[in-house]
Amino acid sequence: MVSSQQVADTAQTHPAAIRALEQRTIPEATQPLAQALKAAHSAATSRWIRETAATNIPARLDEFAAYVTQLLDAAFADKGKGAQRAAERAAFTVAQAGARQASQLATTMRGKPTPPVNAAPGEDAQAVAEAIPAAVEEEHQRALALLTVASLTAMGLAGLNAAFTRARRAISRVAAAIAVTITTANAHASNLVARALGDGVRLLWVAEPDACPACAAYAGRSIRPGGKFRGGLSLDPRRTVFVTAITGPPRHPRCRCVLIPWSTAWLLDGPPLPTLLRHRATTGRTA
Ligand SMILES: [Zn+2]
Repeated sequence: MVSSQQVADTAQTHPAAIRALEQRTIPEATQPLAQALKAAHSAATSRWIRETAATNIPARLDEFAAYVTQLLDAAFADKGKGAQRAAERAAFTVAQAGARQASQLATTMRGKPTPPVNAAPGEDAQAVAEAIPAAVEEEHQRALALLTVASLTAMGLAGLNAAFTRARRAISRVAAAIAVTITTANAHASNLVARALGDGVRLLWVAEPDACPACAAYAGRSIRPGGKFRGGLSLDPRRTVFVTAITGPPRHPRCRCVLIPWSTAWLLDGPPLPTLLRHRATTGRTA
């Protein structure tokens, strides 16, 4: 008979795989925009310096603002869609890996092969990926809104830099959306496996090693497939946000917690798996 320690050890390796996929996908998805913004910023700064050789601000600020608007428009063109596609590819990859991991764990615990599932990222992950272009466009528009003759007059070069700082927020929003897409798709894949295993099989929350107090509070809790975990749990009473019930990880952007199929009918050596997972999360130990 397999021990709960072995199951917990194996389950707790998966967050590292999620993290690695995030770390590959985020640069791939954000570099085109980051590089385009860097080039645009450099072009805008060069022109500013050229036009202010003998004065404080360019003589024709309206023309200068129009020039920078064009640079930003070109830099942002199609970048949201490109990032969405990178997120979708990663969601598909993690759904495959997550289903494989969940199936193997279930097979180990119940001592019988797991029925095959058609791994898919699911609607929630898809919705997060699809929202990326609008988020990118929102930051584009906010950056343009800072490029006024009034602000360039008042702030000079600092006003120009502020517009580019704002524009770069699109990059961090893409990064967060990708992280959420990946963890959501992974949790969905576990849901599919749990459903395929049939009656009585639940989804057990496995906190990533060194999870934050908000995630640690969910370790060892379980739901029926399609159910929800209570919202607002946290081991740190000062951090009781997100009070609405949640279907599973991510608890927050860059949460790499996972769900695994689990049933009280599956007998394991050692302490009960939920107790062990909770103990590990609350003590920060993996023993
Ligand atoms: Zn988490």
